[in-house]
Amino acid sequence: MEPLGRAETPNENPSRDVSYVDTYVLTRTGHEVSGQTPISSFERLIEDLPEQPASQVSWSVKGEIDPHGRHFLRLSVQAVPVLECQRCLQPLPWPVDAENRLRIVKSEADLDDEGSQDTEAEDMVERIVGSPRLDVLELVEDEIILGLPYVPKHDVCPSLPEALATQEPEPDEAEPSPFAVLNQLKKD
Ligand SMILES: [Zn+2]
Repeated sequence: MEPLGRAETPNENPSRDVSYVDTYVLTRTGHEVSGQTPISSFERLIEDLPEQPASQVSWSVKGEIDPHGRHFLRLSVQAVPVLECQRCLQPLPWPVDAENRLRIVKSEADLDDEGSQDTEAEDMVERIVGSPRLDVLELVEDEIILGLPYVPKHDVCPSLPEALATQEPEPDEAEPSPFAVLNQLKKD
């Protein structure tokens, strides 16, 4: 496949493998552009996450025109960011496999066009402004962030919190049971 509108600009920001697409070309041709980008390149995503092991984010973006002549980008993203479990504070790999369809509109004014003839389902579709130079990785990053849980937790934590693990249960009945300690930790 020809490298449609994809360009590297290493001089602009060496820490980020920037990939731009021309949304007009993509929708007109129905072509797909795909790539793999190190997760470390997504600074907005990882700034509040624990240190990330090296991994790749796979993405693809495809242009579409529906029977009504409306333009769309179909975005597909696969990534495995590592979060911090809020129960045991251990690393928690969180696979994200997201697909989204974004409506391409002509201008900023069209982003919130209440008067359009859209169907109800259409109201749920995110809109972006078409561009000959759209930063795909911005969209990819948004998609991953949307796929993250607000409070990440293991289904079953691999180990107890350090504070609990070092708490030696006393034989004395007057001491709080490990379950009471656990409950206390949960409240914090
Ligand atoms: Zn956990």
